[in-house]
Amino acid sequence: MCDMKRSEQRVENTWKMEDIYASMEAYNADVQKVQALLKEYEALQGTLGKDAECLLRALMLDEQISMIYSELAVYANQRYHEDTGNAVYQKLTGEVQTLGVQMMQSISWFQPELLALPEARLTQYYAEEPKLEGYRRQVEEVTRMRDHILDTKTEELLARMSELADAPANIFSMFNNADIRFPDIEDANGEKHTLTIGSYISYMESRDRTLRENAFHALYSVYRQYRNTIAAMYYANAKQADVMAKEHHYDNAMQQALDASAIPVSVYENLIGTINRRLPAMYRYVELRKKLLGVETLHMYDNYVPMVDCPDQKYSFEEAKEIVLRGLAPLGADYQELLQKGFDGRWIDVYENEGKRTGAYSWGTYQSHPYVLLNYHGTLADVFTLAHEMGHSIHSWYSNHTQPYRYSGYRIFVAEVASTCNEALLIHDLLDRTEDAAERRYLINYFLDQFKSTMFRQTMFAEFERDTHAAVQCGETLTSEALCSAYYELNRR
Ligand SMILES: [Zn+2]
Repeated sequence: MCDMKRSEQRVENTWKMEDIYASMEAYNADVQKVQALLKEYEALQGTLGKDAECLLRALMLDEQISMIYSELAVYANQRYHEDTGNAVYQKLTGEVQTLGVQMMQSISWFQPELLALPEARLTQYYAEEPKLEGYRRQVEEVTRMRDHILDTKTEELLARMSELADAPANIFSMFNNADIRFPDIEDANGEKHTLTIGSYISYMESRDRTLRENAFHALYSVYRQYRNTIAAMYYANAKQADVMAKEHHYDNAMQQALDASAIPVSVYENLIGTINRRLPAMYRYVELRKKLLGVETLHMYDNYVPMVDCPDQKYSFEEAKEIVLRGLAPLGADYQELLQKGFDGRWIDVYENEGKRTGAYSWGTYQSHPYVLLNYHGTLADVFTLAHEMGHSIHSWYSNHTQPYRYSGYRIFVAEVASTCNEALLIHDLLDRTEDAAERRYLINYFLDQFKSTMFRQTMFAEFERDTHAAVQCGETLTSEALCSAYYELNRR
C-alpha cells in the first residue's frame, strides 16, 4: 500500500493526459461526435449491395468512429488507472464502456452484409472505386472467414449460446477469485502468514524453504480437494471450444483460435517441437539451480526463488532512463531520439500512489502518442520494465506513423518481440559493463529465468492445451486423473 495521494505527485513524474484531451469539454464534444456518427453509420445499413461508394463510406465512417472512440476509451481508462478510487473517473470509464457496447450494436450489421456480397461484385467495386484499394486487406480479413461463417439464423443462435459457452471460464474465475480459501502457513520460525493466490508467488520467491514448501502444499492441497469439480470445468471449456470450432467448419479448436490471427497450425506445432528439442538446455539450467540452492532434490517450490542474491542497489528514475538509453543504443539514433522524446514529453506515469493500478503497461492513442504506466521502485527489475514498456511504446509509435489507423494495430503474436528484444539488449549491455561479480550473477540469473518462464514454461502450457483439447476432439472425457497425469508428465519431462 502507498500513502501518497494522486494530487501529491509531482507533475513531471506523471503522464501528460492533456495530450489526448485538454479539457472535459473537448472530451464531451467527442462523445457527442461518436453518437452522431453512429447514427450516420446505422443509416447505411442495407446499402452495401448498391454501389462501391456506399461500401467506401461505411469503411471510412467505421474508421473514424473507431479512432475517436479509442481516444475516449484510453483517456477515461488511463485517468481511472491513476487512482481507481476516484469516483469521477469510475463513472467516466463506466460510460465509455456503455458507449462501446452501443457502438458494437450499431456496427454489427456490417459483417454479415459484406459477406453477403458475392466475390465478383467486390472485384467490380475495386475497379469502380480506386479508394477502396486502401481498405482491401481490411475487407479481406472479413471475407477470408467466409467459409467459417454460418447463415444468419445459426450465427444468431450461436451468439445466444455464447453466454453458456463462456460459463466454464466464468465459473472457474468465480471459484478461483471469490470462493476459494487457503489455510495460513508457517515459515521456518513458526510465524504465521496469510496465503492467497496473489501472495503465493512472493512466497515462492522467498529464501525460506520451509515457507515455500508450506505454501506449495497448502495451495495445492486445497485445489486437490476440488479436483473433480475443476476437471469438470476444464472439460466443459474444452468441449465448448470443440463444438464451436466444428460448427464453424474448423478441424479443431486450435485451428479456429489461430485463424483469428491468420497463423498456420504448423507454427504452433513447430514451437512445441523446437522447445522439446532444446530441453537439454533446460536440464542444464535445472542442474545449476539445484547446485546453487544446495538442495538434494529440486522440488516444484524451488523453481522461483532467485538462484543468487539480488543486489540491493537502487536506481533513481534519472539513472534508469540513462541506463535504458545507453543499453538500447544498438537500435540507432532515431530510436534513441524517440526514447528521449518519450522521457521529456511525459509519456510515462512513474511512481505509485494510493489507488493507482498495479503493474506496468504501454497504451495510448493513434493521434497522440504512446503512454506508459509504471510503479517504479528503483530495483533493477524496474529498470528492465522501463526498457520493456518503452519497447511496446516505440513499436506503436512507428506503427502509428507508418500505417493508416486501420492497419496500425499489431497482433499479440508479434507484440512481445519489441519489448523482449529491448530487455535482451539491455542485459547484454549491462553484462558488458559491470565488473561486479554479484551483479553479473544476478543479471545472468534474471536472463535465464526469463527464458525459463517465457520460452519453456509458456510452451509447456501450450503443449498441455494442445494435448487436452486433442483428447476432447477424439471424444475422450477429461477426468481429474487424466489431467493430473498429463500435467505431471509435462512437468517431469
Ligand atoms: Zn510486454
